[in-house]
Order: sequence, then C-alpha cells, then structure tokens
Amino acid sequence: MNIFEKRESNVRSYCRSFTDIFHRAKGSIVYSESGKEYIDFFAGAGALNYGHNNDYIKQKILSYLDSDGITHGLDMYTSAKEKFLTIFSEVILTSKKLDYHIQFCGPTGTNAVEAALKLARKIKKKPGIFSFMGAYHGMTLGSLSISGNTGIRAGAIGALNDVNFMPYPYGFMEGFDTIEYIESVLNDVHSGVEKPAAIIFETVQAEGGVIVAPIEWMQRLRNLCDKHDILLICDDIQVGCGRTGSFFSFERANIVPDIVALSKSISGYGFPMSLLLIKPELDMWEPGEHTGTFRGNQLAFVGGTAALEYKESTNLEQDVKLKEFFLKNFLTKEIATISENIAIRGIGMIWGIDLANFGGSSFAKKITSRCFELGLIIERTGRNDTVIKILPPLTVEISTLERGCSIIKAAFEQCL
Ligand code: PMP
Repeated sequence: MNIFEKRESNVRSYCRSFTDIFHRAKGSIVYSESGKEYIDFFAGAGALNYGHNNDYIKQKILSYLDSDGITHGLDMYTSAKEKFLTIFSEVILTSKKLDYHIQFCGPTGTNAVEAALKLARKIKKKPGIFSFMGAYHGMTLGSLSISGNTGIRAGAIGALNDVNFMPYPYGFMEGFDTIEYIESVLNDVHSGVEKPAAIIFETVQAEGGVIVAPIEWMQRLRNLCDKHDILLICDDIQVGCGRTGSFFSFERANIVPDIVALSKSISGYGFPMSLLLIKPELDMWEPGEHTGTFRGNQLAFVGGTAALEYKESTNLEQDVKLKEFFLKNFLTKEIATISENIAIRGIGMIWGIDLANFGGSSFAKKITSRCFELGLIIERTGRNDTVIKILPPLTVEISTLERGCSIIKAAFEQCL
C-alpha cells in the first residue's frame, strides 16, 4: 500500500482513475515519476486552458517571486491586484462593452457560487433559487444545493434547501418547451413554487455530460428573468476563459447575465482564484460583509494578468475555432460512425462522447482506462459517468491533439 492509500482520506477521487504518480508537466504533456508520458485531455478540469507551465506566464511569476512581491494580501490594495484589475477591465470588460464590479472570493469555484447565492438572496430579500437538472456548481452546501447529482447530494443530509430544479433543454421529448414550463411555474399561483431571487445556469453543462444550451434558449431565459424580476447568474467556471471560443461562454447568445462566476483558468497557471462579476447597481455588499483570508491570491493575479497578455498576443480565440473544427470532424467521422447509439456533443474545446446508449457506464470506464494505459488522461462525466469528456488545454498543438484523438480511436477499437 502506498503512502496515499495509507494516509489520504477515502474521499480522494481522480487518483483512482489516473493511478500513476505525476511529477512534471509541460504544455499538454504530463510526465509520471516513472518517466511515462501522458497527453492531457483533462487540463485540470478546465483550470489549465493555457497549458501546464506556460512559458510566458511562468516567466512573469518567476520574476514576481524573485522581486519579493507580496504573496499574501487579504483584500488589501496590491500592485499585483492593480495590474490584474487594469488588464481585465481593458481587455475583457471595456472591449466587450461590459460593466461589472469584481468581487474576489475564496480560492475555489464553489466560493464564487456561494457568494453569488448569498448576494442574490440579499438583493431580492428572498431565499429561493432556480437551478437546472444536470447542473453542477460545487461541493459546499450552497453550491451542492443547486447541483443535480443525487449521488453527491446524498451526503449533505437535510442541508440543501430553498432550491427548485427546472428542466434544462436536454433529454425531454421533442417539442417540450422548457422556458414555457418555467414561465408556467412562475405564473401559476397554485404551482407550489415561490418566485426565486435568482436563476443560475451553465451555458454548457460540463459535469452534466457536455450539454450545450441553444442560443435561443439562453436569450429566452434572459428575457424571462427580466420579465419576472429575477437575477440571472451564469456559472462560467468551467467553460469560461475561452473554452467555448469567446472569453465568456454567454457571448455567443449576446446576453449579459447580472452576475457571473469565474474560476479555474482565470489565474492562468492553475493557481486557485475565483471571482464574481456583479452589475454595478447590484453590488449591494456592505464593506466586509463577505470576507475570507484567501481572496485574490497574489500569484494568481500575476498569472491571470500574464494569461490575458498571452491571450491577446497569440490570437487564441481563432486557434480554438480551428481546433474545434478538428475535434468535431474527428468525433463525427471516427467515433460517431461506430454506432448510431453513440452521441457526440460539444462546442469550442469541450466535447463529449455519450455512451449512455452504447455500453453505458462500464463501457465508458473501459475506454477511459484503456486511454490511460495508452498514455491519455481523459475523464468521464454526465449521468452515471457515461460521457467521455474531451477537455485539452486550449494551447494544445494540433499534432498532440491528433495523437490524443488517435488514442481514443485505438481504445474504442481495442475495447469493442
Ligand atoms: N461550477 C462549475 C460549472 C464547475 O465545473 C465547477 C468545478 N468542476 C465548480 C463550479 C466548482 O469549482 P471548484 O471545484 O473549484 O470549487
């Protein structure tokens, strides 16, 4: 028994699928202690959009450390934060004609979600939240209360309150209008459901099985929130920061959420950071009303600033379009053709191979395990883990993308 199995809590999870001991990583390649090379189609669950140890970002971090820059600053004003706020305002907000205040939350995605729920309830002075079936927002109690997976909810015995789950536009019979359904719940004085303070949604349910919301659906959701005076919160933690092509995933619908949660790749280097974007008129926090020791990690500010500089100088969005085309083409031609029971879904650089009707969970597990043996890190997601999720760093070279895809193909051939 190794030290991990002996000492680390049973709660450990990814290490059970990816059983090697990892040691070093560069770009889209991860090396184990034994020297084995793996292609990374997992990218730290979306935290490594710019790749492992991105040279440009690394140099900025190294020189910051070398200059004895502040490494911990609570929420005090620091040069590192000043630079991040400046570039984020210019390159992201102003250039997209968006106006938001920025709240730095505790270090991980779920902290931003918790802050969003608390703020929405405070603003609207009511507890109710609508979330969507298939949603994933994190593991702390508030975030878990708006996440759909009953397996992970089970441990929270009785602590998940004031949330109603609405249907996401997926998995219902054709013609079922989910927005109309929500509208009827809101309008029916006998629906048994009170009007919520906010509706929280993902433009792509990543953990839910790579389910992409249609543009029209998002626009109608925005209109519905306006009509009923409900705040619209977009959780862009996994598919923001360029993953779907544009920096924010909601840009393709041309909508503006009231509150946006960002985390994962916002720090550029895999450092923990999460933030909320809040429409200025909704920034109703009192000073110090939502604090925490680790808000706005300084190295994450440096990494996040460098990441935005890197993004600007490399035409990353265009690059994502090319790789999207490659992935879609590969999946449609090489994987979907194996059986009409295999469904392919995705956008930008997040794609899913849905095996729910083709061998289900055990077959999906067989494929990802085989991929791992063949040198590819790739995870499963969705209901009963039946969807294989392709999530490489956005910076992956086309030749590495090709090699990773051929491993997936080989795994299918060998497992069938
Ligand atoms: N929201 C979404 C959409 C996520 O994908 C995740 C993480 N997978 C979270 C929230 C929670 O983030 P964290 O794990 O950093 O708390």
